[in-house]
Amino acid sequence: MSLPTELIHHPYRPPADFEAVAPGVHKASTVIFPSVAAMRERDWKDKSAYTYGLHGTPTTFTLEERIATLEGGRHCVLAPSGLSAIALVDMALLRAGDELLIPDNAYGPGKAFAEGELAAWGIRHRFYDPMDPADLAAQLTASTRLVWLEVPGSVTLEYPDLPALVEVVRQANERFGYGQGHQRIVTALDNTWGAGIAFCAFEAGVDISMQALTKYPSGGADVLMGSVVTRDESLHRRLLLTHMRLGLGVGANDAELVLRGLPSLALRYHAQDATARALAAWMQRQPKVARVFHPALPGSPGHEHWKRHARAAACLFSVVFQPDIPAERVDAFCDRLQRFRLGYSWAGPISLCVPYDIPSMRTTPWPHAPRLVRFAVGLEAQEDLQADLAQALQVLD
Ligand SMILES: *Cc1c(COP(=O)(O)O)cnc(C)c1O
Repeated sequence: MSLPTELIHHPYRPPADFEAVAPGVHKASTVIFPSVAAMRERDWKDKSAYTYGLHGTPTTFTLEERIATLEGGRHCVLAPSGLSAIALVDMALLRAGDELLIPDNAYGPGKAFAEGELAAWGIRHRFYDPMDPADLAAQLTASTRLVWLEVPGSVTLEYPDLPALVEVVRQANERFGYGQGHQRIVTALDNTWGAGIAFCAFEAGVDISMQALTKYPSGGADVLMGSVVTRDESLHRRLLLTHMRLGLGVGANDAELVLRGLPSLALRYHAQDATARALAAWMQRQPKVARVFHPALPGSPGHEHWKRHARAAACLFSVVFQPDIPAERVDAFCDRLQRFRLGYSWAGPISLCVPYDIPSMRTTPWPHAPRLVRFAVGLEAQEDLQADLAQALQVLD
């Protein structure tokens, strides 16, 4: 055998008695089979065997198991981003003629996917008011197949009564005479905010829990990934089939980064929760501030639902200023911040802020000044962040 061939065919055995704390990072497109019989026998859907890198490696299967555990679910499938995980759920469960309901305050790019691709494929969508279970009940029809839920609303952070919304869908399934089969209306929660820490999605009764692992599970602001978790085997199989057809694999190095973030997830979540609550309460006392949105803050929309159903809160809070402050001054306030940097995403080490124009993002009325600033608290010291907010508020004098 020539040296190049010998090096390529050099025998390899995974190290025995090497139980390191971190799981190994296994990379593959090709997986070698010992025989044609084994090649024919192995089923890509069966996660006890390996067939092709796209269908999973020991590293991605380990991450899937840990995310399922984090969410209190049984099955997990990974996607290359949170947004692709949302699109995967939509494409796996919806066909032409079906209807999809989305909360009016849902994550924007997920709405855009419904307005763009899904609409072009003959799948209708409507937006419901998540703070009014009666509105969801009124919008459900015999064509509805999927109801998205989000806790709390993206950017505006209203906290809905999640079990009440799930109950509305359960009653609709009963009213339409749907059983456990494909026809049933499925509920899917965007659980990026709760991250498996604030509450258990499945105890609240949802069928699917999706997360942007980009946020808390990674915690590093350096990787994009999404997950879709279920307790129901047949639902998982439907998701897996579409996932395979679309080729939504994730890279081993990205999976490694998320695996590395998971052990510190709960600590980071609670630390950022404490800082965000303190800063939200402080902001509420500032004369230029009209309203602070944070589910744990008394008076914030849906605070009573948060109090009843959640154990913790994420790193986000949003602020609207007094109506006499023009939008350009609010932008100038954001420009003046130094510790809070301008950038999308959240749950990383660096605090971030983004100014949004809310009326352009929703169909339900917005009774406040249009410009809202969303803050995402990082891992910096609270006093440094508060001092930064205080110096930037001077722009508004
Ligand atoms: C960030 C985010 C997503 C999308 O995640 P990406 O990995 O950035 O695609 C989805 N939902 C919510 C609530 C998010 O905050």
